[in-house]
Amino acid sequence: MTGMQLTLRDLVLSYGGAPVVDGLDLDVRPGEILVLTGPSGCGKSTVLRALAGLLTPDAGDVLADGARVTTTSRDRAMVFQDNALLPWRTVQSNVELALKLAGRPRQGRRDEALKWIADVGLTGFEKYLPRSLSGGMRQRVQLARGLAGSPRAVMMDEPFGALDTQTRATMQRLLISTWRAHPTTVVFVTHDVDEALLLGDRIAVLGRAGQPLRALLDVPSPRDPSVSRSSLRAEAIAALDFSFPVASLTPTRSS
Ligand code: ADP
Ligand code: MG
Repeated sequence: MTGMQLTLRDLVLSYGGAPVVDGLDLDVRPGEILVLTGPSGCGKSTVLRALAGLLTPDAGDVLADGARVTTTSRDRAMVFQDNALLPWRTVQSNVELALKLAGRPRQGRRDEALKWIADVGLTGFEKYLPRSLSGGMRQRVQLARGLAGSPRAVMMDEPFGALDTQTRATMQRLLISTWRAHPTTVVFVTHDVDEALLLGDRIAVLGRAGQPLRALLDVPSPRDPSVSRSSLRAEAIAALDFSFPVASLTPTRSS
């Protein structure tokens, strides 16, 4: 099964009447990694929550393969920055629970969980509780847990934002290799331009609350480390700089 297509159509999201997102249109292609970026407070987490079905739109639509999203679904998983593991459950039990929630039959769950734990490099830590792991290791468990039910789309909210540079680089590589082995649509939120350029097929730059997308950029030869992205990097940084009016930005190259 391939990744899911996600569509935001004229989407309005607000808290207590104040719109955070006002008329957002965005198509996430099946199987791509779409990076959603923008400065703190611009609504990235809010959009992600709507995609996951955790937040009801005030107007407009969130569509998953053309069907309106009204609630959460095992097909659309969410990976958070930290502290989203159940603290009283071991690594293995956290992953097994994800498989259970994904509807996997009981007999196969243990072996499947062990395979996922191996895939994220945590063999030997199956019986550890989250609090005895480092932040990087907890994010490995989260990655395993998020992907274990074979969701057709995964929403990731700054999953590596709290990690040190070295661990973060390791996790980015791990995400790419895991995503290649288990293809799915990924919407990845980060405010880090270099992370966006490294991971994304495309980069969507959100505007301030109530404003349209600042830019939607195609990454040439995505995830190929030999390709220079310095001009695209400059373009992304300009789009992130809200002192530039949108009209002065180069036209977006993606539709
Ligand atoms: P980002 O993830 O881009 O940093 P958020 O989506 O978390 O931004 O928040 C967007 C805006 O909505 C911010 O102004 C924030 O203060 C506001 N906001 C977020 N969550 C809530 C909430 N639960 N109640 C009220 N306002 C909120
Ligand atoms: Mg956020």
